[in-house]
Amino acid sequence: MPSTTPRNDSLGSIAVIGATGAVGREALSILESRGVASERITALASSRSIGSAIPYTGDTLHVRSLDDFDFRGIDVALFCATSAVARAHAPRAVEAGALVVDNSSAFRADPRVPLVIPEINADAITPSDRLIANPNCSTIILLVAIEPLRNRFGVRDIVVSTYQAVSGAGAAALEELRSQAADVLAGRPPAPRVFKEPCAFNVFSHNSGVDPESGVNVEERKMIDETRKIWGDSRVRITPTCVRVPVFRAHSESVTLTLATPANLDEIRHAFTNARGIRIVDDRAANKFPSSIDASGTDDVLVGRLRPDPAATLDPSGRTTRWCLFIAGDQLRKGAALNAVQISELARNRFAVRIPEASRGTTIAG
Ligand code: NAP
Repeated sequence: MPSTTPRNDSLGSIAVIGATGAVGREALSILESRGVASERITALASSRSIGSAIPYTGDTLHVRSLDDFDFRGIDVALFCATSAVARAHAPRAVEAGALVVDNSSAFRADPRVPLVIPEINADAITPSDRLIANPNCSTIILLVAIEPLRNRFGVRDIVVSTYQAVSGAGAAALEELRSQAADVLAGRPPAPRVFKEPCAFNVFSHNSGVDPESGVNVEERKMIDETRKIWGDSRVRITPTCVRVPVFRAHSESVTLTLATPANLDEIRHAFTNARGIRIVDDRAANKFPSSIDASGTDDVLVGRLRPDPAATLDPSGRTTRWCLFIAGDQLRKGAALNAVQISELARNRFAVRIPEASRGTTIAG
């Protein structure tokens, strides 16, 4: 059946690097839903995947190898692969004239590279930027959810505990949860490969490495450093604890904030009115709040369990600076692929549609 979605050429020609992976496939699905024609897309992955077929708008994308791909003629390169791949190939994509948006952590800390969540710091992108980093997934979900509170009341500190889906560790981890769940239910011992711990029916500390001095793991460090960079505020205090849960997709987070100015429940709820990228799910009577299943496959971050910290003392008008909330967001969409596509749209719509020949050749060292 012919597609009724209008064609969308605003991103020009697009290369998706890591097209066979969890984020890459999600990026393709988002481009498909935005009406980007198949002939505008080049699907790239490792040499292992050459010739793999990916269905797209009733057509088929045939995966090509990144290694010998020439980026000339590509307008937007969405890097959805490892940091090593981004370091090795993003500079040459930039040099060939593409706008690169990278999902890995390779360039996030580089002061020359903007780290962007469009709802929060779109202005960090300047016309000369050719490489833009997509923040860590847990960080994006957290910061989108609390942006209305930061705007209205200011945020002094954040205590956050994450409940992170296994697909945050890629397509192989998703498969590992499926196969381990089947093993456990069949009475067979689970065989961990991607994670050191069994991921089925288990909750465990995030699989990223732990700094021996501080005891902080890499995921927690990303949440601290990236929040400071995105907010441009090196003083904000963040206390994260990052944990994996046996969920296929969508990260949930329990958040306790100290606001700069006190607020009551009506004022907190009002701050979220018309907030971008957020859906309030906060029905106390029905005990209905954000969940990973409800967040899966959706673009919005779900926000709920809005309540004053029970340990705080409220003033006579019910105001306090201490607030708790529970949030859930699809880390493959807003936490990665969707945010990356939104960054590309923002940069392309705001600045020159095609990078002038004269400014090509600008390389960002890896
Ligand atoms: P994934 O499912 O493991 O996919 C990795 C992709 O990278 C695959 O398409 C793979 O291709 C490709 N790749 C690996 N080595 C390559 C090489 N040498 N040359 C070209 N392509 C290569 O991982 P993912 O979860 O999609 O994550 C992709 C990136 O996004 C990572 O940097 C990750 O940290 C980041 N990220 C992930 C999430 C998430 O929720 N998963 C969220 C935010 C950010 P083959 O199939 O050919 O091996």
